Amino acid sequence: MPPRARPVPAPRLEPSGQLTWAAEDVVNATLALVARDALDLATSPALVRVHACANPDCSALFLDSSRPGTRRWCSMDTCGNRAKKETLRSKS
Ligand SMILES: [Zn+2]
Repeated sequence: MPPRARPVPAPRLEPSGQLTWAAEDVVNATLALVARDALDLATSPALVRVHACANPDCSALFLDSSRPGTRRWCSMDTCGNRAKKETLRSKS
């Protein structure tokens, strides 16, 4: 029996005008949404912009949305900043 697709969170417009998302099983609905997005990305032209972080201690993948497409780090707050500090340290 093939695995069953799980429902994703449903949008709901509150009387206040605020958009919220609801699901009976929040965890499975969120996982279903992540899986759907991953399949959308894996079958799109944007797949060529998915890169592995240049930090050898990091296993993160990221979607490079920079214009030149030369981003190296999953995040400048973590891996990119660490690499900058190491470069500066090695120059001094
Ligand atoms: Zn990283």
